[in-house]
Amino acid sequence: MKPRILAASKIHDKAIEKAKKFADIDVKAGLSEEELVGVIGEYDAIVVRSKPKVTKAIIDAGKKLKVIGRAGVGLDNIDKDAAKARDIQIVNSPEASTISVAEHAIGLMIAVMRKIPQAEIHVRQGKWERKSFIGNELYGKTLGILGFGRIGREVAMRAKAFGMEVIVFDPEITSEDAREYNAECCDIGEVLKKADIVSLHVPAIPSTKDLINAQNLSMMKPTAIVINTSRGHAIDEDALYEALKAGQIAGAALDVFKNEPPEGSSLLELPNIILVPHLGANTDEAQINAGTVVVEKIRNILTK
Ligand code: NAD
Repeated sequence: MKPRILAASKIHDKAIEKAKKFADIDVKAGLSEEELVGVIGEYDAIVVRSKPKVTKAIIDAGKKLKVIGRAGVGLDNIDKDAAKARDIQIVNSPEASTISVAEHAIGLMIAVMRKIPQAEIHVRQGKWERKSFIGNELYGKTLGILGFGRIGREVAMRAKAFGMEVIVFDPEITSEDAREYNAECCDIGEVLKKADIVSLHVPAIPSTKDLINAQNLSMMKPTAIVINTSRGHAIDEDALYEALKAGQIAGAALDVFKNEPPEGSSLLELPNIILVPHLGANTDEAQINAGTVVVEKIRNILTK
C-alpha cells in the first residue's frame, strides 16, 4: 500500500506530481484545526506552507503520522515539542529559495546604484532629466557580506562575476571557507568601514537583532549602501532612517521589515531607499523548489 500524504496548503503542481510517484496525496487547503484533527488519522505525512498551524491537537490525532513537511523556511507554525514527543520527524526546504534571494540582492544593488526605480517613475511623469540619474558601477567596488551561509555565498559568486571585491563577516566561517569563494574574512568593523555595499544574509537570532544600528552605521562610508534581503530583525529602522536622512550613508534597499507591510514607517518618506514587499523567494523556481524539495525529503523518510 502506498503511503498517504495530506497537503494542508496549496503546494506547487510539480511537487504534487512528484509525490504521486510514491504516495497518494490529497490537497485540502483551508481546513480548520478541528477539521484537520478529524482527517489527519488517515495520513502518514502532512505538508504545510506558513499556514495552517500544525498544533499539538493535530499531531496527537495523527496516529499514523511519521513526518511533517514545511514547504519553505521557518518552522514557527509547527509544534516542534509535540512532534518530538511522538517521534515524528519535521522536514523543511530552506535551500529552495537560495538562488532567488541571491539574485534579488544583486538586483537591488544595481537598482540602488543606478537609481532604476526613481528613474522609471521620472519617465512616467513625462520627464527626461538624465543628469539627475548619474549612477555608479558595481565593478571594482567592495561588497561586504554579513552572514556567509547559503545565500551569502551565492551572492559572493555573483558579485565576483561583476568584478567586485568581496569581504565577509560570519562568526562561523574560517578564512579558508571565504577563500573558496575568492572572498576575504574580516571582523565586522572592517567590513563596515571598507564596504561600498553592505548586504545582509544573517538569520533572525538574538545576536543579529539590530545588527545594523546607529553605531555600526556611523562606521560606514558616506557613499555606502545597505541591502537587506534577510530579516527586518537585523536593522534598527529608526537608526537607518536617521543615517539616510543625514547623508551618513548614501542609500539602501530593503526587501524585509520589522513590520510587514511597513505601514507608517518614516522610511517611506525617503528618496534614497528602495522598498519592496518581501520578494526574495517570490519566483516560480523558488515556489517549485519549496514543494519538490520537501516532498523529496518526505519520500526519503516514508520509503526508507
Ligand atoms: P544560512 O543559515 O545558510 O546562513 C546564515 C549565516 O549567517 C550562517 O553562516 C551563520 O553563521 C551566519 N551568522 C549568524 N550570526 C551572525 C552574525 N551575528 N553576524 C554575521 N553572520 C552571522 O541562511 P541562509 O539560507 O543563507 O538565509 C539567510 C537569511 O535570508 C535568513 O535570515 C533567512 O531567513 C533569509 N531569507 C530571506 C528570504 C526572503 O524572501 N527575503 C528568503 C529566504 C531566506
